[in-house]
Amino acid sequence: MKAITVEPHEPETARLEDIPEPDPRAGSVLVEAIAVGVCGTDVEIVEGKYGWPPRGKTRLVLGHESLGRVVDPGPSSTLRQGDLVVGIVRRPDPVPCPACAVGEWDMCRNGQYTERGIKEIDGFMSERWRVEPDYAMKIDRSLGLLGVLLEPTTVVTKAWEQILAVGQRAFWVPETVLVTGAGPIGLLAALIGKLQGLDVHVLDRVESGSKPELVRALGATYHSGTIADVGFQPDVIVECTGVGQVIGDSVKAVAAGGVVCLTGVGSGGRTVGLNTADVASNVVLRNNVVVGSVNANRRHWYRAGRVLAHADRAWLARLLTRRESPEAFMRALQRQPDDIKVVIQFAEA
Ligand SMILES: [Zn+2]
Repeated sequence: MKAITVEPHEPETARLEDIPEPDPRAGSVLVEAIAVGVCGTDVEIVEGKYGWPPRGKTRLVLGHESLGRVVDPGPSSTLRQGDLVVGIVRRPDPVPCPACAVGEWDMCRNGQYTERGIKEIDGFMSERWRVEPDYAMKIDRSLGLLGVLLEPTTVVTKAWEQILAVGQRAFWVPETVLVTGAGPIGLLAALIGKLQGLDVHVLDRVESGSKPELVRALGATYHSGTIADVGFQPDVIVECTGVGQVIGDSVKAVAAGGVVCLTGVGSGGRTVGLNTADVASNVVLRNNVVVGSVNANRRHWYRAGRVLAHADRAWLARLLTRRESPEAFMRALQRQPDDIKVVIQFAEA
């Protein structure tokens, strides 16, 4: 079968190639791939900056934002042939740490977790893949191709859970949220903010096109420019850019008692805005919390499935801005100006 594979930490090694059918030891559920979303992590792996192959191998099957159709549910699952499923990405570490021991592998303490398509387990960019029944999330069939948005939605679902958990440390009635970055994560964060009845604002660099339109279609307010131009102090900031300047501005702009949730990962960059002591004076004197959030556990996958099942299909469809064939996977990984979520499509939904 065809698969998109890469030798992690070796740039320019990604290729579409023929590999053996998935090993039954990878899971008793056999799935035909429909589509796989691409994100910055895939780009980093292809550029040789991230990723680990399975033990004893040199190449990794790429892809962690899956959607597929059950071909054979196997002997021990409640799934049926034809069900649409998405594979959970992370597996608990083998020790396990206390978090993994209770199924909260997203909070893994020792870093020995594994991840499909990223860290030591083959991903989903192959014509067929296998998954353990417990790690196959069935989605609402009416979502069709939109089910490929489930994985990014889980990331945002967890981030919101973190924000609300932190906020509840005191009496707190949030009314406003600012989302920085109108990519898939930012737009899905805005969607969940609206579902909670919040006054949602989204900030991005672009001044026109589908991002402002999608924000307005949610009933949210779009801003371009800097956080200082937004003109109010948000109770919550969901930071989705990973850009140092935006992170510093978020810490300065958030309201007293507010929560800044960091979901984007960057590195380095010019030291701008706040130095570390300034961060302390901003955060201490106003009881603010800066919380990082990554990945998701089964609880978030379940909730994210409900979010998508109830979301407006036409709005979700506008997030999928480009579909590429497996042969054109390199084009899928090259960012174009109007891209929101690009998917590699293996079969019709
Ligand atoms: Zn762990």
